[in-house]
Amino acid sequence: ASQPADNLSIARAVRLWPIEEIAHRLGLSGEVVEPYGRGIAKLDLAAMDALAERPRGRYVVVTSMTPTPPGEGKTTTAIGLVQGLQRLGHTAAVALRQPSMGPTLGLKGGATGGGYSQVLPMERINLHLTGDIHAVGAAHNLLAAMVDNHLHHRLEPELDPREVRWQRVIDLNDRALRHLVLGLGGRGDGTPRQGSYEITAASEVMAVLALADSLADLRRRLGRLIVGLDRDGKAVTAEQIGAAGAMTVLLKEALKPNLLQTLEHAPALIHAGPFGNIAHGNSSIVADRIGLHAGDFLVTEAGFGADMGAERFFNIKCRTSGLVPDAAVLVVTVRALKYHGGRHRVVPGQPLPASLLAESPDEVREGGANLLKQIDNVRVHGLTPVVAINAFPGDHASEHEAIRELAASVGVRAEVSHHVRDGGEGALALAEAVAEAAEAGGDFHFLYPAELALAEKIERIATRLYGAEGVDFAPGTREQLEDWQRLGYGEYPVCIAKTHMSLSHDASLLGAPSGWRLPVREVRLSAGAGFVYALAGNIRTMPGLNASPAATRIDIDDEGEITGLY
Ligand code: ADP
Ligand code: MG
Repeated sequence: ASQPADNLSIARAVRLWPIEEIAHRLGLSGEVVEPYGRGIAKLDLAAMDALAERPRGRYVVVTSMTPTPPGEGKTTTAIGLVQGLQRLGHTAAVALRQPSMGPTLGLKGGATGGGYSQVLPMERINLHLTGDIHAVGAAHNLLAAMVDNHLHHRLEPELDPREVRWQRVIDLNDRALRHLVLGLGGRGDGTPRQGSYEITAASEVMAVLALADSLADLRRRLGRLIVGLDRDGKAVTAEQIGAAGAMTVLLKEALKPNLLQTLEHAPALIHAGPFGNIAHGNSSIVADRIGLHAGDFLVTEAGFGADMGAERFFNIKCRTSGLVPDAAVLVVTVRALKYHGGRHRVVPGQPLPASLLAESPDEVREGGANLLKQIDNVRVHGLTPVVAINAFPGDHASEHEAIRELAASVGVRAEVSHHVRDGGEGALALAEAVAEAAEAGGDFHFLYPAELALAEKIERIATRLYGAEGVDFAPGTREQLEDWQRLGYGEYPVCIAKTHMSLSHDASLLGAPSGWRLPVREVRLSAGAGFVYALAGNIRTMPGLNASPAATRIDIDDEGEITGLY
């Protein structure tokens, strides 16, 4: 959030095109375009059939080096890139996650890009949009209510109240809801047990929404959700509770991607927002499918650095969809490279220190190990990334040159991009490089085959991507993984929940740390979404607010103009 006031005034100066015109750019019209207020439409999944005969465009994923706390600009770069591609005469759409309201009202401000690379209308995107996140919450909480009702009436299969795994969710940061006791009162008030709330982005239903490719697939995945164990320790599913059908009904509209536009009227698909640590952190497969068949390029952002978001994009999202990416963009900044050089102390929630901004190509080179490792992390999947140097005010040409040299030393093309300052015009060089890379294509492959044992999948990600020497499995976790293999979940990909601030599990280890081992504390099964996740570190699924939440600065005037949201 470098110039919050500017973002808002730039956004307000733009006249939105009618959303039908944006849909028209994608070759979509008529009943599949369902207007949802000014500048917003939902796209019926029938759009996939309507477009099925059209050739598939190029599939481009935007990832980054290991970020600093404020982020390196994947969202702005993805938006700027489609605007640049559009200026080159291509039809290009960007697909992004819907931001969660918890962080918007908490620490971070919105997540709709910045400067001349934004998606509009930002007030709508950052708050409620078309209600998808709330629908996910309602479907999730319906299942929770039915689980507690199941306990209350002692229905079959009988749940063990101590082994209920399904919590409740809400799209707010509220630490007071992390631990609570449910069912207090009298006989008629339910079965007392310990419960908790998580933020809706952490719901497995959200991960499912992003991975489902049809209503039927959504229904099937929801039916597989595990809500707890019975008295014999056997998993009980949402299907057995009888909730999957009604949950699907509640999600019927939410499964349709939202169509919006960038400042330069390029189509933007905003859909689903799963957590980037305990879940895969990628926007929806249905939005990508529609965008891919509707234009020459579909550019999508994968949350966090290449070790996390892009790894899950490749090994979970693409494996699930069967879609093959053609190119990858690795966003880097001067400030992040200096940060990884390790001479500066950066405190999350506080502005970056001024010392980080002094001209110093040497410090940029000192942080280069992280960039080279993340380049490699894309390359192990068979794609050579284009490095996007996201230019910030205050960068120096000598520092950009240092990044270019680092990339060139491993045969990778790097382009400076001024999309935040200049919109698509500032991203032309990047757009040309990406178009060429996508044209050349790659030799995409997964990091591991589905048949590899679950523990070995975790080891492969830890050693090949994170640079760990090995994995230390906590007692019982290997046995748990073997159990799931016996139960038929062995082909699932894995998702490792760790900090995004380091290639390792320890946020203080910068650069490309070596000589460390990844501790796996616990393993969990997302049977509905279709992956196993391993917890390497303390991952919060319900954030708290700080002493001065963004909400204290958000207000609205008599004309309905919102202030303080950026
Ligand atoms: P990410 O998607 O990687 O988390 P964002 O694109 O959301 O990163 O950018 C993080 C923050 O930095 C946002 O507030 C954004 O407006 C700001 N930002 C990104 N790129 C630039 C830039 N080139 N100049 C100024 N501010 C930027
Ligand atoms: Mg982002």
